[in-house]
Order: sequence, then C-alpha cells, then structure tokens
Amino acid sequence: MTKPDATQATQSVDDGSLERTSGSGRMEVNRHLMFDHLVLPEEGSPRECFEAVSRALRDRLARRWMHTQRTQDRENPKRVYYLSMEFLIGRTLTNNMINLGLDSTLHDGHLHLEHLAWQDIVEAEPDAGLGNGGLGRLAACFIESLATLQIPSMGYGLRYEYGIFRQSIENGFQIEQPDHWLRNPDPWEIARPRETAMVSVGCQFEWHDGKLRAVPGGCTHLLGVPYDRPVVGYGGQTINTLRLWGVGTPDYFDFGEFSSGDFVGAIVDRVVAESITRVLYPDDSTRAGQALRFVQEYFLVTCSLADILHRFRHSNEDWEQLPEKVAIQLNDTHPAMAVAELMRVLVDEANLGWKKAWELTVGTLAYTNHTLLPEALEKWPVQFFKMVCPRLLEITLEINRRFLAEVETRFPNDPVRLSRMSLIEDAGEQHIRMANLAIVGTHSTNGVAQIHSDLLRTRVVSDFAEMFPHRFNNKTNGVTPRRWLLSANPDLASLITESIGDAWIVDLSELRRLAPLAEDTAFRQDFLQTKQNAKQRFCTWLETTTGQQVNPTSIFDCQVKRIHEYKRQLLNILHVVVLYQRLRENPSATFPPRTFFFAGKAAPAYRLAKRIIKLINNVGQVINNDPVSAGRLQVVFLPNYNVSLAERLIPASDVSEQISTAGYEASGTSNMKFMMNGALTIGTRDGATIEMAQEAGEENFFLFGLTAEQVAESRPWYSPRWHYDNELETRAALDLIFSGHFNRDEPGIFEPIRETLLEQGDFYMHLADLSSYAATHQRLGEIYTDKDAWARAAILNVAHSGKFSSDRTIAEYASEIWNAVPCPIAHELKEGANDVKAQD
Ligand SMILES: *Cc1c(COP(=O)(O)O)cnc(C)c1O
Repeated sequence: MTKPDATQATQSVDDGSLERTSGSGRMEVNRHLMFDHLVLPEEGSPRECFEAVSRALRDRLARRWMHTQRTQDRENPKRVYYLSMEFLIGRTLTNNMINLGLDSTLHDGHLHLEHLAWQDIVEAEPDAGLGNGGLGRLAACFIESLATLQIPSMGYGLRYEYGIFRQSIENGFQIEQPDHWLRNPDPWEIARPRETAMVSVGCQFEWHDGKLRAVPGGCTHLLGVPYDRPVVGYGGQTINTLRLWGVGTPDYFDFGEFSSGDFVGAIVDRVVAESITRVLYPDDSTRAGQALRFVQEYFLVTCSLADILHRFRHSNEDWEQLPEKVAIQLNDTHPAMAVAELMRVLVDEANLGWKKAWELTVGTLAYTNHTLLPEALEKWPVQFFKMVCPRLLEITLEINRRFLAEVETRFPNDPVRLSRMSLIEDAGEQHIRMANLAIVGTHSTNGVAQIHSDLLRTRVVSDFAEMFPHRFNNKTNGVTPRRWLLSANPDLASLITESIGDAWIVDLSELRRLAPLAEDTAFRQDFLQTKQNAKQRFCTWLETTTGQQVNPTSIFDCQVKRIHEYKRQLLNILHVVVLYQRLRENPSATFPPRTFFFAGKAAPAYRLAKRIIKLINNVGQVINNDPVSAGRLQVVFLPNYNVSLAERLIPASDVSEQISTAGYEASGTSNMKFMMNGALTIGTRDGATIEMAQEAGEENFFLFGLTAEQVAESRPWYSPRWHYDNELETRAALDLIFSGHFNRDEPGIFEPIRETLLEQGDFYMHLADLSSYAATHQRLGEIYTDKDAWARAAILNVAHSGKFSSDRTIAEYASEIWNAVPCPIAHELKEGANDVKAQD
C-alpha cells in the first residue's frame, strides 16, 4: 500500500474518479474535506478532518450496515431490544476503526494528514455523554458485545441535545456548564425521518422560570424522529443499530392556539414541545421528581414499542409469535411503562383478550434492577400518569387489581403484604411503584452482581421473590475489552497478543494463559514497562492540557466514579489526611510516594457530594504545597470525568479504589476496567468486586472493612463517636480537618461534613472502616516496594479478569433470559475485501 501525497489525491478527485468506493482511505477523506467543507486536505482543521475521516469510514461501513439489516429481515430471527434512558457512548471514531479491523491502517499512517497529529483528529470528537455513569456505560458496552456476538439487536434511547453537564472546578468547587455536544453535525448519526413514530401526550408544555414544564390540559402530538448510529461488532461482520429518538412536532401542530389563529403562539409552543429531548437529567440515584423526566420516559417507551411492533408485524402474521421473535430488556425501571404500553397496544389495537395480552407481555419483557438504595427506586405520582397517559394508568390499575387478587389467593388474610406488594403506594399522594410494575409485568428480574441479586431477593423485594421465585436471576456485569483494553491500552494489548495470541479480544477467558507468565522474570519486566509507559503518557497529557505535574514513579491511586456518599470518596480523603498527619508527626517516616487521583461529577442538587469535592480540592491544595508532604503525597482532582478520561487514566493506574459501604454498590464496572488494565484493587466486599477477588484469589486483592451483613447487623448500635473517641488516628485526622487547617479563609465550610460524620450517625459508616482501610493501605504500600511481588499480583489480576467481559454477560442474557442466538452475516468476499480494507 503506497501513500499518495496530498496533491496527487486532490488531483484524482479532480479527474473524476469519484465513483470509486474502494481505494485509498486517504482519497476518500480528501474528498470529504473538499466537498463537505470546501477545504484542501492540508488546510483541514482537526474538527473538519475528524468529520471527513468519520464520513469516509461511514461510507465504508454503510454497505455492511445495510446488509446486516437486510439479512436479519430476511432470516427473521429473534431480535433483542435494549431500552435505556442512557447510553454513555464516549467517542466513536477509534472504536469503529478498531472493530472494522482498520486500526493497522491507522497505525501504518495511511490516514494521517501530514499537518495534523492523529490524536488531534481523535480529540476533535466530543464524548457522547448521554448518561450519568455506570448504568449508561453498561448499555454502551452491551450493544457493542451484542454486535460482536452477532446477535440481532437494537438499542433504543433518547437523543439528548445536551448530555451530562461539563464539570469544571473553580476555587475547589464544582461548576456545571451545559454540554452542547451536537453543536457540530455528528457524522455518526443518520436521521431516518421516514421511520418517524407518533406519540400523543395528554398535556402541554411551557417555559417557567427558564425551565421546561409539563402542565395539565390539552393534548400534544409529538413525533419521534429516529437518529441511527452504527454499532460495529468486532471483526466488522455484524453492524447493528442504536436508535436514539429526537422529538419533533407535526406540521399541523395542534395546540389550541393554532386553530384560534395565533400563529406566533403556535410556533412558540412548537419550539417548547421540541425541547423535550433537550437535556439528560444529571441525576441517576435520587429521582429527578419532575414531570418532564416522566414525559421523556413515556416518549422513549411509546416510540420504541411502536417501532419494535411495526418491525415484528412486517415479518410475522400472528401476535402469538411475539415472545418467540422479540425480547425487550428494560435497563432499570426508567422504561418500565413498557409493561402498560405493550398491554395497551395488544388490547386496544390488536384486540387481544386481557389474558392473552398479558401472557405475551410478560413473555416478551425482562427487567434489570440496578440499585439497592431505597431512595433510588422510582415512584411516579399517579397524577403524572393522569396528565400524560391516562390510558396507561387505567391499564396499570387493572394489572394491579388482578395481581393483588392473585397475591390474596396465595397469601390469604395478609393485608400488610398486600400493601407492600401493591403497584400503588397510598401514603399521602398516590404513586406508582415502578419496580413493582417491572417485576410483575416481566418474566425475568435480574441483579447485576451475585451479592446484589441475593440482596434483592432476600431484602429489597423479598415478597416478590417468594411469589415468583423462578423470575429472579443474576447477570454479573461486564465491560467490553475492545474499548477498555485493546483500544485504551495498546502497549499492554500488544504484550498480551505477543504472549498468547489475539484470541482474547473476542474470548477474554483466554487471558488465563497469562497466569504462568507471572513467574516469568522477563514477562514481569515487560509488563511493568507497559504500565510505566502508560503512566508516562498520562503525565505528558496532563501536563500539556492542564499544566499539572505529577511524579510518574509514584503510586497512581485512582478513585473515579460519580461522587456519592455510598461510594465513599470521603473515606479516601480521610485516609489521605491520616497519611498527611503521620508525616506531620514524623517527617522522616518512609513510604512510597503516592498520587491520589479523584474524578467524578456530583449531581447539581446533591449538596453534600459537592462539598466532598471541595474538601478533596482543599486537602490537595494544602498537602501538595506543604513541604512536609510535597513530593510524597499528592492529590489530583481531574475535572469533567467522562469515558475518554477513563480510557486515558485507567491504563496508567496502579491502584483501583472500590470502597463503597458494603451492600450498596450494585456491581460497579470501573472495578473491572481497572482489573483488566493491571491495577490492584483496594476494596470492600461489595458488588462485583467480590467476584473479582474470587477469580483472582483474595491473596491478590486488598480487601478490608465490614461485610454487607456486618453493616446491616451493626446499624442499630453503630456509633461513629466511639471511633472518634477511641482511635487516635481517626480523631487526629478529623480534628485537623475541622480545626480549619484546610479552609483557613473559608470558615465553617466543612461543617456539613462534620455533622454527617459525627452528629447524624455516619450512615455510610466511614469511621467504622477507616482504621482497617488505613492498615490495608499500609500493606499495599509495602508490597508496592517489592516490584516482583507487585507485578506477579497485577499479572494474575489481568489473567483472571476474563469473566468480566460484557461478552460473557451478554451470552448469559442471550441463553438464560432472551433465548436469542447469533445470526451470522456473510459478506461477499469481494465486496467485503474492497469496501473495508483500505487498499490502493
Ligand atoms: C465505567 C464508568 C463508570 C462506572 O464507574 P463505577 O466505578 O462502576 O461507578 C462511570 N462513568 C464512566 C465515564 C465510566 O467509564
């Protein structure tokens, strides 16, 4: 493959060779630069080059994408639909190149534009931040694994014009700015107006104090406009679709004003209604109790079901076939209205009897629970249903009536049980309990790690587990090794491939074959070298983008995730203060230098979480500059945590902090990304961390703290005061913080933190775990200084991370919940070779 120079490529555009669909990738890129942007190749800005490269790539995958859809239409296999209010996709360009097998093109420099570094082009793509955290990232990993496993499937979500807010830090405080990620045209989406869905909503919309509100009265017809994104399976065979709905309004937009001749009013109302998919709610743990979020959920469900059923009817005569041809997975309760909406379609539109419709509904739908936090279980006011979708309320009430009759038959004379299990909560304002609706209306309820599924069954919804024992199951989460290892950590990926071949990319259990190499001195050397390279790369990036310097030989200790009390960033920073206090008391104490990286966003209304961010930054400010600790302890808060930052930091990490109060983290997925990248975990026995330690052996983990059982048992008598009074280091650290050492000019700002820890009972039990956490960190520091021991443990962690591929998770969903099988796509050899491989 020869590399044409820019002038030559430009000339060949001029001489009419436009018709060529194959040929040099460079030429296709140049063509897009010229005809989409009217610039010469050597003049393209990073953004223009990003668009041109992406469009050239999209041209190449279009045929495979269409062929995948045609083949699936023809073969009429069972299809899987993943409904999620969030897809935290991150960037798309590199991932699609790798999955199409074009990364060699990339590495060999065939797509390089001389005047720009490839990295600048990649970074001109904004993160698609259509999610808050783990739940949305899981959805993104799942659709990638579905495509890699060649399972006919589609993701359905919303096309938010503003994703999760952009976070900056000013004077230590979190500042939120809107993330207008679609400011520029996105080459990865294709609008499909011909497949528009129509939704009627029983309310109107208005602006109030700068916020969009749903208000009762009237009826609004909305259009769901599909925006499709290709989901490229690894190997480039199957290309599935992620369909995100944007809202539009019909031309005959029918607010009352229109018929009364108020054209301006009608147009204003139209613009208002079209704001429904404007923003993602930046809160995944406490319910955004707003009618608008409710309307968004309704919009997702009605558009997606209409689309799914239309496709089903296209290839199938008989409604009876629905559960054999369609599996719909509800990612948490956000799309749980699907239970009522599917019943509505089957009863009102298909004219099926209730019993038949119910059997088909339950057989088609399945539900994944994501949280054990009671305050995060969704409940919607009955009023919202009345206002937005009164027919779904009628149906939900009828589902409830029949369900409670069934409960009464199974457990007679147990009114308390009836009120616990009812879909309606009657205390004060009536609410619909969405988790109850989701469990009753689906054939499968799964948790996302073994301990989570167990607690769900035994504590959170035990009545339901008793009623429907066969519905409950576990599917431990996973992450895609393509993005999180192959793409994010090229050095380690190459080392692995050189050692055991490349089968691990699609079968991560292959990594087991690395285990014997933990005893191989040369391999340990190489392994440590890849880590050192990744750390150095991260340092260089950090310094060029922020000016911050960190010591690349220090321990990179990372806690990156949403800021939440249960995740206990506070425990981490308390421990940093313990270390600092030790240095203050004994400046000659020796331990390996450590850099503590924090990153994560706090929900804008979550005041304590935001105060924790402030504490981390203030502690950093003092410790990084105090001569007693400078160079030995460093605290770095990396602003605006997102997928791209995770891809950068995780390969460079030595230590993964997974320190939630046991029993509160459903699974965690960043824990898995760290493990694959050779970090050692310091963590509690919570979520999937338990299973990770089982795989790698507890001796290769740093586990500490109370178990979920101990947390529950000690709640009644737990006293944070006791720890303050009896543990010297705990007291010294807290005294130092609350003496104002870290907030000399800002008196009292950490008072809310003192109150939560010492006055209000320390619900998340930071003080209960602080001393065992500190002791475990001590041990960790000692082992770090023994390079061989550290490398051995890190290699064994990588070797035993195979279970945590989302391919394994999806294979389990497919066989145990969906009963779906792959539909292999055969591309004609000639076409396949020509249109995907960049050849001259
Ligand atoms: C993986 C990931 C998460 C989930 O992290 P947890 O530690 O499991 O909560 C959140 N945000 C981003 C950007 C991620 O990549």
